[in-house]
This record gives sequence, C-alpha cells and structure tokens, in this order.
Amino acid sequence: MTTRFDPTLEGFMREALREGRRALPACRPNPPVGCVLVREGVIVARGHTQPPYQPHAEPMALATLEGDLGDVTAFVTLEPCAFHQRTPSCAEEMVRRKVGTVYVAMIDPHPRNRGRGIDKLRAAGLVVHTGLCEEEAHADLDAYVWQEGEPDALD
Ligand SMILES: [Zn+2]
Repeated sequence: MTTRFDPTLEGFMREALREGRRALPACRPNPPVGCVLVREGVIVARGHTQPPYQPHAEPMALATLEGDLGDVTAFVTLEPCAFHQRTPSCAEEMVRRKVGTVYVAMIDPHPRNRGRGIDKLRAAGLVVHTGLCEEEAHADLDAYVWQEGEPDALD
C-alpha cells in the first residue's frame, strides 16, 4: 500500500478530502466527509461517510484503531457532528477515544451543529484547528450541506 502524498498538514487534509469523495454517491443525503488519522507522520486510518444509518467518517476511521489516541492527529473535512441523529455523535466519539489533535477543514453550516462539534472537542481538552484547506472543502461539500435559506428540518 503505497500512497504518494505530500506529508504536510495540507497534504494530510487533501488525503481526507480524497477519502471523502469515495463516499459518493452511497452517502446521500449525508455529506461526503473524509477523515484520516495520522500517527508519527503516517496515515494509520481512513474513513468516509457511510450510507445513512451507518457510521460517519470519523467513527469509521476510529474503529480501526485500539486504545487511547492521544498521539493521533485527525484530519476531518467537515466539523464533527455534535448531535445524535441516525448515528451517535462523532464529536463525542472523538472525545471518548481521547484523540490528541484535530484539524477541521470547514465548520458545519447547519444550525444544529455550527461550532457545537468544535466546542465539544475543545471543552474536553482536544486541540482543535479549523480552516485548513477550507476552500477545497467548500468546493467538495457545499452542495451536500445545509445552505442558508433552507428550512431547518431534522430528518
Ligand atoms: Zn458525524
């Protein structure tokens, strides 16, 4: 398994973006989010949004690793969800697994999340950085996430 990529922060987030694109079209109507987990500069796990009622990108990646993940940095293309809906909250799962550092490309614009996922991570002591490759994430995800003017319906 040799993947050629740029081992910088942007390089890891672009891998997460690539991983997210693998979610289409099966993930619909959920957004095609990607997540990679990095330990000592190496990608050790990947995940992308599974079909409805199945895990989101973050739990899919987390499930492949054991133990506490304090030495792991997660790169996620969309803010982890803070709400229980069809699946448990991804933010809670990242807290439970004690992920050390999290890079988030874009904040979830949906009113039910919009910063709450980030707040949840930070409140638990995870180090969170936002805005890495944000424009690329918007290009990939804007068509799939809640947009201003849409009814705020819970599905
Ligand atoms: Zn989620």
